Amino acid sequence: MDTNDDIIRMIAKHMLEADTIIFFTGAGTSVHSGILDFRSEGGLWEKYDLFEVATISAFRRNPEKVWEFFRIIYEDFQPVEPNKGHHAITEIQQIKGGDKVHIATQNIDGLHQKSGSINVYELHGNPDIMHCIRCSHEEQMNYEKHIKPDKYPLCPKCENPLKPKVILFGEPLDMDVYNSALRVANRSEIAVGVATSLEVFPAANILLSPPPTTKKALFNLTPTLYNGQLDYYVEGDIIETLPILAKILKELNKK
Ligand SMILES: [Zn+2]
Repeated sequence: MDTNDDIIRMIAKHMLEADTIIFFTGAGTSVHSGILDFRSEGGLWEKYDLFEVATISAFRRNPEKVWEFFRIIYEDFQPVEPNKGHHAITEIQQIKGGDKVHIATQNIDGLHQKSGSINVYELHGNPDIMHCIRCSHEEQMNYEKHIKPDKYPLCPKCENPLKPKVILFGEPLDMDVYNSALRVANRSEIAVGVATSLEVFPAANILLSPPPTTKKALFNLTPTLYNGQLDYYVEGDIIETLPILAKILKELNKK
């Protein structure tokens, strides 16, 4: 049986030869930055009723209550910093050249960009933008103006409650963002899943649906239901395994 290091070396060799690479990152990527995976034990869904705070119908019904939850999320996200996993992906992008490495993320914490990565597709939205679900007005999030007051912010055009531009349950993905990421995945020589259980669709299609010409790898703590569809699986903590991948790629790239 191959050890993790052997598998990581094979993935690095594919990356060395690839013209296009896509990473697909999930909630576990940010756990070491202090952001809880909502679904895991001790996660936010043990403390809050999903249907009361994180669905689009709850927002329409009771924006006051949903905004109480948003304020907690914004306060949790304020001080977080990227971890070794984010930095390893940024390093790989710098080794290969920014235009060759793309990152589709299910996270809304902005940590890939904060670590210096570019070409990031935010499948589940961007909390730095406020938008109006009635008239589509958008504006940049301002903490003092939108988050700090006890009363939720209103759209300056139609006075509907403003909402962070993140995808709530029951809301469709931004199909332009999703389709752009999927097109990149389909022409990538290798797609690499990071710390994701592959349970949220359609997002998980970014890793699972490309043709066999795209090698599929996953770095995760535990196997997923879809491991049979992968070419490579590296089990372990991504803050340990991804830096090894970056290091091997760097060595191969020098030769
Ligand atoms: Zn409006």
